[in-house]
Formats: sequence, C-alpha cells, structure tokens
Amino acid sequence: MQVMAVVKADAYGHGDQAVAKRLFDHGVRHFAVSNIDEAIHIRSAGVEGQILILGYTPVGRAGELVRYDITQALLSEEYAEQLSAAGFRGKCQFALDTGMRRIGLNADDPAACERVIRKYAEKLQLDGLFTHLCVADTPQQQAFTEKQIALFEEIAGRVADLHLPYCHCMNSAGGLWHHSEVSCFARLGIILYGLKPDYVNTLPAGIEPALTWKTVVSMVKAVKPGDTIGYGRSFTVQRPMTVATVPTGYADGYSRLLSGKGWALINGRKAPIVGRVCMDQMMLDVTDIPGVHMGSQAVLIGKSGNETITADDLAHVYGTIGYEVVCGISKRVDRIYLDPK
Ligand SMILES: *Cc1c(COP(=O)(O)O)cnc(C)c1O
Repeated sequence: MQVMAVVKADAYGHGDQAVAKRLFDHGVRHFAVSNIDEAIHIRSAGVEGQILILGYTPVGRAGELVRYDITQALLSEEYAEQLSAAGFRGKCQFALDTGMRRIGLNADDPAACERVIRKYAEKLQLDGLFTHLCVADTPQQQAFTEKQIALFEEIAGRVADLHLPYCHCMNSAGGLWHHSEVSCFARLGIILYGLKPDYVNTLPAGIEPALTWKTVVSMVKAVKPGDTIGYGRSFTVQRPMTVATVPTGYADGYSRLLSGKGWALINGRKAPIVGRVCMDQMMLDVTDIPGVHMGSQAVLIGKSGNETITADDLAHVYGTIGYEVVCGISKRVDRIYLDPK
C-alpha cells in the first residue's frame, strides 16, 4: 500500500513546505491538505504529484484548482453539481460518508451513491473515492470500523468498471490496525509525525516523535515561603525554592490549561510549572535540579537525559490529543529542520 501524506494544518504544526518537500524528495507522490491555500502553499514549494483537498473549496476558486493541478474532494451531490455548473472540469474524488457524518455521500444507500458517482464520472474528471474512519484507533469499536470499510468496499465494487485509480479509506489508525483490498493508500497524518492517534495506542517499535520543542531559561531566582508566583497568585511558596523563568507562554501555543500541571525537562530532570502560564513566559520549579542558570536549555516536548515528554503526554494532562498540541505551536516558534541521525 502507498502513502498519501496528510500535511494539512501546516503539517500538523511541523511546517508544511519543509515536510512535504522532504517527503516528496523521498518518493512520496500523494499529499492531502484541508483547503486550497494549503494546497497552493505546498505546490509552490516544489511539490509535484497529487494534492487532494479533503475539505471545501469555494466554487469561485475552482479555476485555481485547475491552474495548480489540485484534486478536489466532492463533499456532496449538491457541491458536485455546483462545481459542474460553474464549468469545473478538473480532477476530483467523491467523499463517502460511511458513518462519521461529516462530509460525503451517505453510504447507507449504496445504490444512490452509485448513481451519483456515475453521473459525475461523466461530467467531471472523477479519479477516486474515499471515506474517513472515525474510531479506527479504538480497539473496542473494531466492528464499527469493519462496517465502515465494508460499506466503502461495496460502493467501490459497484463502480469498479469505472476503473477509478484512487480509492482509499485508511487514516493512521486504519493503516496500522485494519486492512482493505480496495484501499490504494493509507492517508497517514499523525503517525507521520511519530504521534499516536489515541493515548491508549501503542505504536510499532521504532516510530519516534519528529518534533522537539525547546526553550531557554531567562532568569533563575530564589523565592521564600509566603511568596506567590504569577498571575492570580495561584501558587503559594511553602519552602525555600529556586524558580526558573522561561520565555514561552500560551501565545507560543503552550496551553494555559497546563498551569500548575505541566512540566519541562532541564538537565534530564522534571521541572514542574508553578503558577499560571503567562502569554509569553512561565515559571518552573527547579529547586531540586542542580546547575540551572540563565541560558540553560528547557525541553517542553522531547528528551533530556533519560526523561522524555511527548506531545501525547502533555495532551493527556489537560484532556486533549497530541494533534491539538502540535497544531497549536504558534508561528512565532522557529522551526529548525535537522537531518535524521
Ligand atoms: C486528518 C485526516 C486524515 C489523517 O488522519 P490521522 O489520524 O492524522 O492519520 C486522513 N483522512 C482525512 C479525511 C482526514 O481529515
């Protein structure tokens, strides 16, 4: 099975041009994004091959789809009709809704899907079908995923005579734990970046997070019992402590929900956040960590000595998923690309 690299949302915060170009140079020829601006952005970085928009493009921009040779998902019959009426004759693929109830033709009625697919296969340059799995990361819900895959296969089978080259139904979790004879790609998103679809998942050995997020200690100070730290005075010092400030805050995408809960790694040790995360700074308890000084490196996501903190770990602390953590790292945080060791 081939890979369609999902590089939407700036490659899950990793930087879409750099990621897509690197994957292209390593032989990946199929990419997916969420909108036309993302598609044009990676095309402009020199990415050739297929770029599929998984979401909505305003019909008024259909001309750009053709100009940049971008493939558009058809979200509904109504949308296909509008594109066709506007004179669009570019590449497109029908989305099938096999149970997520987000976009696509309702696959509960395969005969109706077949009719619509055949109609637009004549009017547009239809070259594929796809569906999206909504619980493939959940072992207890395997039956639902198998049902989604079976519906997809049935519809693909009904229109097999059209020889649509691109029928695909796997995301990261689907590609890892499910199988379909029909699916020509796994559309890999989160696992490309070395993260888990769900916190409970175990990834195959050797898959490591691609991203490390580092900051630096800007000041170290002693605080005394009775002092309070940060906005709202939410943390009261109980014993003599050493506190380090780092110039990273929620405007960098380090969630304020991690106030008093998250931690960084300094010199291979955990430094808990004390008080609230500010917009541009936060404070860390380094009392038990020797040798912390202005300029010390603090790892927010990544490894330090024998300690590791992943985006999935942070997400778990404040009740979200690793996807949201990495997508949320804001643009003012520099991305630096290193070659693998
Ligand atoms: C985001 C997305 C993917 C990738 O999902 P991961 O869980 O990150 O692998 C695949 N297909 C569609 C339609 C998506 O929206």
